[in-house]
Amino acid sequence: MLTTDQIDSAVEQTLASTLFVDIHTHLFSPTFGKLGLWGIDELLTYHYLEAEFFRSSKTTPEQYWKLSKRERADAIWRALFVENSPISESTRGIIAVLQALDLPTGASALEDAREFFSGQSIEQHIGKVFEIAGVSDVVMTNDPLDPEEQRVWLNGDQDHAQFHAVLRLDRILWVAKALAAIGEPGLRRRREGIGKVDRGGSPVSRCLAQAHAAVVYGGFANGCVLLSGRQHHEQNTG
Ligand SMILES: [Zn+2]
Repeated sequence: MLTTDQIDSAVEQTLASTLFVDIHTHLFSPTFGKLGLWGIDELLTYHYLEAEFFRSSKTTPEQYWKLSKRERADAIWRALFVENSPISESTRGIIAVLQALDLPTGASALEDAREFFSGQSIEQHIGKVFEIAGVSDVVMTNDPLDPEEQRVWLNGDQDHAQFHAVLRLDRILWVAKALAAIGEPGLRRRREGIGKVDRGGSPVSRCLAQAHAAVVYGGFANGCVLLSGRQHHEQNTG
């Protein structure tokens, strides 16, 4: 039986020695290639930090979006970590990552971090991060209507012992909502054949009819991308 003052340390020990499954992440297993973002430049250009950057810097979004990823990371590092103290939740997150990886956090830490990340393989890095985080498995957020993901799913090589798939519904619901808006008669007219989509309709309804045909006639491998789901998501959610 634990006494009251032993409870804190018992809970701490149990949490420290228990592996967790993270059921909602935006991580991807290595097979998904460029969809899985990692490294210091990707961390620094996370959209929370970009928003903070625009509040703290004279750089306009137009100027910022013309920069390369590396230049964006440089600008954010300078504005939020060198010229200002990293005290917000997002900037402290970067410092926490650097500390967890035993990397320096001073003004010149960006170059050290780049050097560190360039020496890591993705598999090696995943192993290290899972261990530090005390996580055994993660659940991805998958959108099979995204052409980049489709390639991986159609190849059938997405199996990874620690990365589990989950279906992201946004785009499917968008399609369903838009189909409902067009209405059944409109669809009937356009359903007559793939490729024979009503040319008189608006580009949006043509695109929807093609998406519908692709879903109905099997397979998602249709060139028509209704929404740029991933970008849309990255700008809006965490
Ligand atoms: Zn999310």
